[in-house]
Amino acid sequence: MNTQHYLYLIYGALLVLPLSIYIFRASRRNQKARSKLQQNIDSGLTEPASLHPVIDPNLCLGSGACVPACPEGDIIGMINRKAALINPTKCIGHGACARACPHGAITLVFGTEKRGVDIPHVKPNFETNVPGLFIAGELGGMGLIRNAIEQGRQAMESIRKRKVKGKDYDVIIVGAGPAGFSATLGAMQHKLRYRTVEQDSLGGTVYQFPRGKLVMTQPATLPLVGKVKFRETTKEKLLEYWTQVKQKTGADFSFGERMETIIANGKGFRVKTSKGTYHTGSVLLAIGRRGTPRKLGVPGEELPKVVYRLIDPEQYRGQHVLVVGGGDAALEAACSIAEKESTTVTLSYRSGSFSRAKEKNRQRIDQLVTEKKLHLLLPSNVKRIYADKVDIDHNGKLVSVPNDGVIICAGGILPTPFLKEIGIEVETKFGQA
Ligand SMILES: Cc1cc2nc3c(=O)[nH]c(=O)nc-3n(C[C@H](O)[C@H](O)[C@H](O)COP(=O)(O)OP(=O)(O)OC[C@H]3O[C@@H](n4cnc5c(N)ncnc54)[C@H](O)[C@@H]3O)c2cc1C
Repeated sequence: MNTQHYLYLIYGALLVLPLSIYIFRASRRNQKARSKLQQNIDSGLTEPASLHPVIDPNLCLGSGACVPACPEGDIIGMINRKAALINPTKCIGHGACARACPHGAITLVFGTEKRGVDIPHVKPNFETNVPGLFIAGELGGMGLIRNAIEQGRQAMESIRKRKVKGKDYDVIIVGAGPAGFSATLGAMQHKLRYRTVEQDSLGGTVYQFPRGKLVMTQPATLPLVGKVKFRETTKEKLLEYWTQVKQKTGADFSFGERMETIIANGKGFRVKTSKGTYHTGSVLLAIGRRGTPRKLGVPGEELPKVVYRLIDPEQYRGQHVLVVGGGDAALEAACSIAEKESTTVTLSYRSGSFSRAKEKNRQRIDQLVTEKKLHLLLPSNVKRIYADKVDIDHNGKLVSVPNDGVIICAGGILPTPFLKEIGIEVETKFGQA
């Protein structure tokens, strides 16, 4: 071989090397995406909660631009050089993937062929087919914090124009998530007589995000405050900001008050809540889509140590905790607390087995029981909750367990039946825009 041959070899190697690295990386990404998708299929995690992308394989040319565009991480992956929704249940409908696709291959839709999503009919002014009953935020189908804030503000402008006064209030706002928060400030700005009722506390779904979750949002206009320029922040900072706004403006919220029924009454409505009955000119439903946690209905459930979802396992370190329920949420909550040092966890479920939960979670429970880190009571029913203990019927025998905290994961009551009951027209979408 002469020098020229060597040069050809070197040039060849220089060309082949980056190509090989590219092919190697693409193949690893392909494998990773495929295995993530399979894991989710095996666990039954295939149905997106609401708005999500559908990728047309005929239009997708495999640029992969949609993959890093998603603010929530590995929701979309590349399989066989085509984009695929690999983590459907984690998709929250940012829509950034559709905007990033250079070939228009992504459409955002509600529901799937198998699972319909109920979307109420809402006019451009956010009023439903029931005059005076308005909907803002995720309940109307459009998720995301910025949209909820904008809709809450705009809905309140429509309510102001309606000028219907109730005996007690001009408007009752239900929910204090981003939509209800913004609407409340709007009601103050327009000098309306308002009452905002919230079954939980300030922040809605944001309050339930895991500790430290990165929140991606876009600038939005809050009434009385002006343009808020958050783009990327944390759950804690966002909640702290809203709390400061609440204090500065003097916005009034009735926390721990649950709306139970709404009855149209002449020109206005009679709203019954867990604390009273009020007559109002208009109602704004800003209740999101996650519903109301199902209660056990036992004495002592009103104690402040009883909660309906786990926010941070760390807060239970060194305590006696009772988790109630048999689904994945209950099993995951029980495991994450039991894995903390010096914690005593009891898991109570009314059935004899965890047939509704994922295999992986059942194995985790078995392991913790074997290691004596978790006390399992099957089948059992909580009878009474006291400040320092809980009485549980375990197989017909009453047992008393020391207790500092109770987490009830017994599912939720979704809002759609209620909407239908009060006469709001709802359309079930099966994969339609
Ligand atoms: C895991 C996860 C991560 C997300 N990350 C982001 C993100 O990074 N960026 C982003 O923009 N969006 C994100 N979202 C979406 C965002 O949280 C929601 O779109 C937004 O909170 C909707 O606001 P909302 O006010 O319409 O409803 P919600 O925030 O759901 O608030 C509804 C409120 O109504 C209350 N309520 C319900 N029923 C009643 C009743 N009967 N009586 C009294 N009160 C009631 C509830 O307790 C709740 O506080 C995420 C969602 C999830 C689940």
